[in-house]
Amino acid sequence: MSDAGPHSEISSISEMQKQTITHGNIWILASGTLILAIVLSFLLRYEKEAIGLSVFHFLPPVLLLTGAGMLMQGYRNQKRQTLFWMLASTMIAMFWLALAWSIFDLWDNRQAAEKVVLIGFFSVLIGWYSRYSLLLLAIGILISGYAWFLLNDDRLVLIDQLISLVKFPILILLMTCTLRRLYNQLLQKQIENDLLISELREMSYTDTLTGLINRKGFNETLRDNLKNADRFHTPLSLIILDIDHFKQYNDSLGHPKGDLCLKKVAAVLASQSQRAVDTVARIGGEEFALILPGSNSKQASQLAEMIREALMEEAITHPDSPVSEHVTVSMGIANYSEDDESSLYRKADSALYKAKSRDRNRSEIFSLLDTSVTAD
Ligand code: GH3
Ligand code: MG
Ligand code: MG
Repeated sequence: MSDAGPHSEISSISEMQKQTITHGNIWILASGTLILAIVLSFLLRYEKEAIGLSVFHFLPPVLLLTGAGMLMQGYRNQKRQTLFWMLASTMIAMFWLALAWSIFDLWDNRQAAEKVVLIGFFSVLIGWYSRYSLLLLAIGILISGYAWFLLNDDRLVLIDQLISLVKFPILILLMTCTLRRLYNQLLQKQIENDLLISELREMSYTDTLTGLINRKGFNETLRDNLKNADRFHTPLSLIILDIDHFKQYNDSLGHPKGDLCLKKVAAVLASQSQRAVDTVARIGGEEFALILPGSNSKQASQLAEMIREALMEEAITHPDSPVSEHVTVSMGIANYSEDDESSLYRKADSALYKAKSRDRNRSEIFSLLDTSVTAD
């Protein structure tokens, strides 16, 4: 039942976040590559001679490829991921600036260059919106480069330069804040829902009185453990434990004291089964079960004896028991051999019946001579 804890849900959220980043970056690279391919094919086919193409105009593809490389390195190298992704963020922002500069330089077209910068803003927003620091880094680089463009354009008067400089950043900041708020709300809701689901899951598997696993949890755990025993050919034992003359205990001391007694027995069972793989469950009113993967009948029988002794030491007074002056238990043990859940349970129950019929306060191991099960 340990995998029903909340941590598995949270890790799936960070997985979701990681996927969002992956998708965003793929969008950046895909849109960048597409635009670049269009611009370059146009340049190389029609305007190669007319516009004076130089080696600097091939800077964008170099930056884009380097950015893609850094991004991939970040995925591979978990330790230095932040460093690689910061480099990728820088390269991608520089790519958009270089592309805008190439267009501006080749065609002297400031408006087209501005549009490329705008596309750059949007693409880094899509790419890094779940990674705030990388987004801010890319936006910072884009704004600085864009400011350099504008301030070096003599045809623009100062007011034009300033307006152009602030209009995109304001738009992008607004979108970033809105997107991030929505994203955080969504993430928060998802975390709350996942925690709630795992709490409900845990509640539905827990016995409220003793805190042990309940019947439903027992059934599922037994099924899973039997599958493993079958697959890996390992032994598995099941102990069914029943408090002796518990009705009399309730009758003489009252139901609340009976509840207390159940809690004490549960605590003894939990303290005696110390292996992490073992499962202790309350499967009925005063009936408990222990699933012991990897244990054969002999080991299970030793544990049963330890439980019996620990309970005697606990010395819970039973004023009306014909067996002892303290609360005692009877146990039935069955060892797995190509059983399903119900046949193994029936074997352990049959052994318990044997223990009950042999004066209680003892454990019995199921043997094939016990006809009650084989006849079933
Ligand atoms: P045996 O030795 O043969 O097992 O006899 P028994 O009296 O223990 O068994 P029986 O099945 O006759 O009675 C079980 C009793 O357990 C009856 C019921 O009142 C009591 N019981 C079941 N669930 C609870 C519970 O949650 N709290 C308390 N206090 N008693 C419970
Ligand atoms: Mg009983
Ligand atoms: Mg019973």
